[in-house]
Amino acid sequence: MRKDEQKEMKPLLVQRGHIIDPSQGIDEIGSLLITQGKISWLGRGEAAPPQPDYDVLPARGLIVCPGFIDLHCHLRQPGFEDKETIATGTQAAARGGFTTICCMPNTNPPLDNRATIEYVKSKATTEGLVRVLPIGCISKGRKGEELAEMGELASAGVIGFSDDGEPAVNSRLMRQALDYSRGFDLPIIDHCEDTALTNGGQMNEGIISTKLGLRGMPAAAEEIMVARDLALAQLTGGRLHIAHVSTAGSVKLIRRGKEKGIQVSAEVTPHHLTLTEEMVVGYDTNAKVNPPLRTSRDIQALVQGLQENVIDIIATDHAPHTEADKLCEFGRAPFGISGFETALGSLMSLVHDGQLTLAGLISKLTYQPARIIGNKYGKLGTLAIGAPADVTIFDPDMDWVVDTKDFASKGKNTPLAGSMLKGKVIATIFHGKLVYKDDSIKVEAKVCREA
Ligand SMILES: [Zn+2]
Repeated sequence: MRKDEQKEMKPLLVQRGHIIDPSQGIDEIGSLLITQGKISWLGRGEAAPPQPDYDVLPARGLIVCPGFIDLHCHLRQPGFEDKETIATGTQAAARGGFTTICCMPNTNPPLDNRATIEYVKSKATTEGLVRVLPIGCISKGRKGEELAEMGELASAGVIGFSDDGEPAVNSRLMRQALDYSRGFDLPIIDHCEDTALTNGGQMNEGIISTKLGLRGMPAAAEEIMVARDLALAQLTGGRLHIAHVSTAGSVKLIRRGKEKGIQVSAEVTPHHLTLTEEMVVGYDTNAKVNPPLRTSRDIQALVQGLQENVIDIIATDHAPHTEADKLCEFGRAPFGISGFETALGSLMSLVHDGQLTLAGLISKLTYQPARIIGNKYGKLGTLAIGAPADVTIFDPDMDWVVDTKDFASKGKNTPLAGSMLKGKVIATIFHGKLVYKDDSIKVEAKVCREA
C-alpha cells in the first residue's frame, strides 16, 4: 500500500472482540484501533478509544488476533499461472485469514537468483492483497547439484532456502547449505523424503495401499531424511526447518534433536493434522498429497508434538492445481491440496475436540512463525502498538460448508469439498486495510461519541 493511501484511510476500530495475542499474552475482551496502517491503541473491556472519529468494525462474539502467517505455500507464478497467480493466491490467503505468506521457489523459472525474487516481490506489491515473502532455492535450478547463490538470494530478501517439492538429496550439498546459512541466519527448509524409497509411490504405505493396489510411500522415507538433516544440522550448527512433518517417527526424532540442542524447527499442515489415509479410499485424487496422509496414530503424535512445542508451527503447504490436472486416474494426478481457505475451519476441529487451546492454535499461526522469520521484515505476528495492523477476525463456532466455487484460489483441489467445518474467517486486515470481509459483517462510521 502507498503511504498516501494509508494517510487517507480513516482510523478503524475493531470493537469489543475477544482479543487473543500470544506475543503479548493477551486473552480478553477489548477493542483495537488502527491508524495509518498500524495498531495505535488497544483498550481492554468496554474502554473507548482516545479519539472521536473512526469507522467501526463490530467484533462482539468474534476472535480478534494477529494476522496468520504461512511459512509454506505455492503461488505458482512465474510459470504455472493456470494453477495460481500471486493475485489469486493472495486473495485466497486473505479469505483464509493469512496476512503474510512465504512462497516456495518451485516455479518456472525457479526462484534461484535475484531477478526472480525481485519479480515475485514486485508482482506482490502491485497485484498482491497480502504480504508475500519469497523462499529461495537451495540449489541452482532446483537440480540438487550445485548451491544457488545464497548470498545474492539473502540480500534480495528471501526468508529461507528450500528445494521444496524435492528433497535436498545430496548430503554434501545439504551440509554446505546448512553451513552457509549460518552467515545469513536463515533456515534451510527441507522437504524430507528418501526418493529411492518413495519412487512411484502414491499414498501412505500400509494395509490400505495394499488393498487399493497403490504403491506406498513408507514413513521411513521421511524419517531417514529427518534423521540425516538433524545430523547435518548438528555437524554444521546451521538452522534447519523441517517442512510438513507427517509421521510419529519424525516427531520423535525432532524431539530428540531439540533435546540435544540442535537448531531445528518444524511445521505440520492442517491436512496432516486432521485427515487420514482413509481419504484415499475411493481414489479421490484431491486426497493425493506429498507427504501422504498418514494414520490416526501419526495424527496423535503430531498433535502431541504441537502441544509440546516439538512442532513449532502450522503451515498450509497450499498447493493449487487445475481441475484438469486432478481429473485423471490416481496414479497420474499431481500431489497437492489447495489449503488457504479451509485451514482455519479444519484446525478449529482440534480446538473443539479439546486437543489444542485457542491461544495455542493462534500462537502456531502467528507468534511462532514470526519468530522463525525474524524481525527483518517488520514486527509480524503481534498486535503490539506500532506494529503493522495485520489482523484476523474469526467466528470460532460458525458452521459452513466448503464450496470450492467460492474459493478465490484457482486451485479447487481439496478433499474437504462438501464438508461442514466449524470456524470461519470473518475479516482480514492487512496493513490497516480490509482485504477480506464476510457478508455477515458491516463496517460503519461511528455516529456519535461514546460515553
Ligand atoms: Zn514439500
